[in-house]
Amino acid sequence: MPFADEFRALSGRFSGQLEFEAPLSRVAYYRIGGPASVLATPRNLEDLALLHEVVLRTWCPVFILGWGSNLLFPDEGYAGLVLRMKHLFTGVEETGPGRLRVGGSLGASALLRVAAERGYGGLERLTGIPGSVGGMITMNAGTHLGEIGSILIQTEMVSFGAGSPVLEKRIRVHEPSDFSYRRNHFLGSSDLILHAELVFEPEDPARVKANIDDLYQRRKSTQPVDLPSCGSVFMNPKSSGLHAWQVVEKLGLKGYRIGDAQVSEKHGNFIVNLGSAKASDVRALIRLIRDRAKTELGIDLHEEVRILS
Ligand SMILES: Cc1cc2nc3c(=O)[nH]c(=O)nc-3n(C[C@H](O)[C@H](O)[C@H](O)COP(=O)(O)OP(=O)(O)OC[C@H]3O[C@@H](n4cnc5c(N)ncnc54)[C@H](O)[C@@H]3O)c2cc1C
Repeated sequence: MPFADEFRALSGRFSGQLEFEAPLSRVAYYRIGGPASVLATPRNLEDLALLHEVVLRTWCPVFILGWGSNLLFPDEGYAGLVLRMKHLFTGVEETGPGRLRVGGSLGASALLRVAAERGYGGLERLTGIPGSVGGMITMNAGTHLGEIGSILIQTEMVSFGAGSPVLEKRIRVHEPSDFSYRRNHFLGSSDLILHAELVFEPEDPARVKANIDDLYQRRKSTQPVDLPSCGSVFMNPKSSGLHAWQVVEKLGLKGYRIGDAQVSEKHGNFIVNLGSAKASDVRALIRLIRDRAKTELGIDLHEEVRILS
C-alpha cells in the first residue's frame, strides 16, 4: 500500500490533524513551497506513536517542522511525511530556582510574554525570533544579546526515524561544545525535541517587559517584518569582520529582484517574498549573492536558512 494510504488509515484513531497533498506554502513563514504528501499535526504522544508505527512500516521520508520560520521548501513540494510540531508541547513551568521547563513547540513570543509577566531575566535574547523552542535549539538561534544554547540546561527528545523501533525519551544535559554559531552538535537527523530546561535570572517583571518592548521596536525599524521571509539568509562571515548585510550592501544588491524574490530594501541579509516568489527565485538570488561575494570580495557566505531540495 502507498505510504500516504497507510497514514489515511489512521483517521479515527489520530486526534490531531492529517492532511494530504497540503501546500507547504501555508505553513512556512516564506509562504513558499509545493505540496507535502502528508502533513501531520499531532496533538499528543499517542498521535506521535501512531505516526511512528507507519514510518517504521513504510520507511517514508520524514521532515520535522517547527514554526517554519527558517525554511525554504521546494516548489515541487515534499514526497514524505512533514511532522508539524506546532501544537504538541507548549507548557512553561518552573522546576526550581532559576530553572524553567518549556515545551518544544512553544513559540518564542509566547515564552517572552510569560517572561515579561513573571520576571524571567535573560530570555530577552530571544526577542523577535519567530520560531519554536525546538527550532531555536536546532538552530542555536539568538540575537546580539546571546544565543539559546547559552541558557539551555538540557533537552528532552525522542528519535523518530525508521531506524528506531521504539519512541524512547532521552535527555541530553548540555555542555558548551554542544553549540556554536547557529549550529547544534548533538541532534541526529531524526531527533525530535519534546521539552527543554532553561535557566533564567529572577528580575523585576516591569524591567523585563520594558527590555523586550524596546528590542521589538528596534527590530521593527531595521527589519522588513511586514513581508514574508526566513529572517537572515546568510550567517555572518565572522572572519571577514563584516556582517552579511554589509557584504550585500557592498555588492550593491539591496533591492535587487528575481521574480517576486527581492533583497530587502530595509535589510541586506533578508530576501523577502513580494507576493508570489518561487523557491527557485530565492535560490537564484542566494546563488548570485554568494558567487559575487566570493569573486568580488573573496568572502565565503554560508546559508543560515535551511533549504530543502
Ligand atoms: C522575521 C524573522 C526574523 C528572524 N530573526 C532571527 C534572529 O534574530 N535570530 C535567529 O537566530 N533566527 C532568526 N530567524 C530565523 C528563525 O526564526 C530561527 O532559526 C528559529 O529558530 C526557527 O525556529 P522554527 O520553529 O521556525 O523552526 P523551523 O524553521 O520550522 O525549522 C528549523 C530547523 O529546526 C528543526 N526543528 C524544528 N522544530 C524541531 C523540533 N521540535 N525537534 C527537532 N527539530 C526541530 C527543523 O527540522 C529544521 O531543521 C528569523 C526568522 C524570521 C522570519
